[in-house]
Amino acid sequence: MALRFNNTLSQQVEEFSPARDNTVRMYTCGPTVYDYAHIGNFRTFTFVDILRRTLRANGFALDHVMNITDVDDKIIRNAVAQHKSLDDYTAVYTQAFLDDCAALRLERPERLTPATAHIGDMVEAIERLAASGHTYSSDGSSYFRISTFPGYGKLSHNDFSGNIAGARVDLDEYEKADARDFALWKAPKEGEPAWQTAIGPGRPGWHIECSVMAIKYLGETLDIHAGGVDLIFPHHENEIAQSESLTGKPFARFWLHAEFLMVEGQKMSKSLGNYYTLRDILDRGYQPEAIRYLLASVPYRKQLNFTFDGLKSAATAIDRLRNFKLRLETERYPEGRNEQLGARTAAAAEAFAGSLDDDLNTAGALAAVFEFVRDANSAMDSGEFCAANVAPALEFLARFDRIFDVLAPSAQGHAISDAEVEALVAERAAAKQARNFTRADEIRQRLLAQGVILEDTKSGVRWKRK
Ligand SMILES: [Zn+2]
Repeated sequence: MALRFNNTLSQQVEEFSPARDNTVRMYTCGPTVYDYAHIGNFRTFTFVDILRRTLRANGFALDHVMNITDVDDKIIRNAVAQHKSLDDYTAVYTQAFLDDCAALRLERPERLTPATAHIGDMVEAIERLAASGHTYSSDGSSYFRISTFPGYGKLSHNDFSGNIAGARVDLDEYEKADARDFALWKAPKEGEPAWQTAIGPGRPGWHIECSVMAIKYLGETLDIHAGGVDLIFPHHENEIAQSESLTGKPFARFWLHAEFLMVEGQKMSKSLGNYYTLRDILDRGYQPEAIRYLLASVPYRKQLNFTFDGLKSAATAIDRLRNFKLRLETERYPEGRNEQLGARTAAAAEAFAGSLDDDLNTAGALAAVFEFVRDANSAMDSGEFCAANVAPALEFLARFDRIFDVLAPSAQGHAISDAEVEALVAERAAAKQARNFTRADEIRQRLLAQGVILEDTKSGVRWKRK
């Protein structure tokens, strides 16, 4: 079966291939760098990473643009309060975002572009929209007049023809002719930084940056536009209105949206005390690859319930795969090839790829891996796993890891010494003797985090560095 995605625009699952040549032109909405990103944000960015890797596994090249929103009301408010320039204020959080992405092994898009580097392009786009009658001005600000774009609502499948009172709209403190209308350009308030431009002093609205950067780098029609479900309305709806009014062409062929993340069954919020940045979780001693695994393990269109038990299970799952890999690499197997197991390996690899191609069904893909590991482990235990079965099994694991990327332990600040490893191994043996399995497991996890893998054998514990 071919690669296919659920398209928010058509509400159908559709076969995907790029419109032109072999390159997927893709735009995803990036972070607003006014604070550290939270794990809900990273759920979406992890989905985008799995999407990238699956597209490449299907043989496509990528041209992926992601914006960095480095100007908006909150940024201006905070920067002014801290007596910092916008650049100084956002540089900290931009770097923090890049560091967090690296910790989670999220691939860098081909182009990562800050909004403030494109003010001139945005002004030009607003002038063109004005010339074609899509805007109006009020107190130095420019607004997009929704009534000039009849397709408004086609992505969110909202009917905006009737009364929309009570709908979540892009409200701000400016005067608008219609509650749906949104700011393209905002006049500065007293004491605020502003750009001096042909359309007056001010700063761009949020929506225009995405339309302008997407079209500039990727052309008038994108293959894929992706983001979180919270962006469908109004942000993506507004992007469509602006872009299609500018070009007269469909803005994106495929729209993909990742569902919300819940924490311990509740919506994440600062008041509930369940609001976590990636740093908060790393500070509790969890490994970034366990967080990555948990975020990737639930198919993107399902709500993800982030729990600390789930994180522990993710660490255990990774441990199981690493142990299996170690077993493949270190044990001796009888010569020859077990044909049945060879066929089992090929079928598992096919089920893995088939699940991902089915709208990124990561849960199905992981099930294919773990069922195979279970079968292969029992074949090893019963002496039926043969030397010629090793290479295909390792290749399957490598294929898995090109998407999920969790097998290599994260590098630590300093390497643990052999003597420290031996001491911990001895402490773990004593803990097991005393039936303190929790402590024994903690030590195993701690060593694993340091890149040391333990294996219990009949002749005692052996360990090796990754
Ligand atoms: Zn956007």
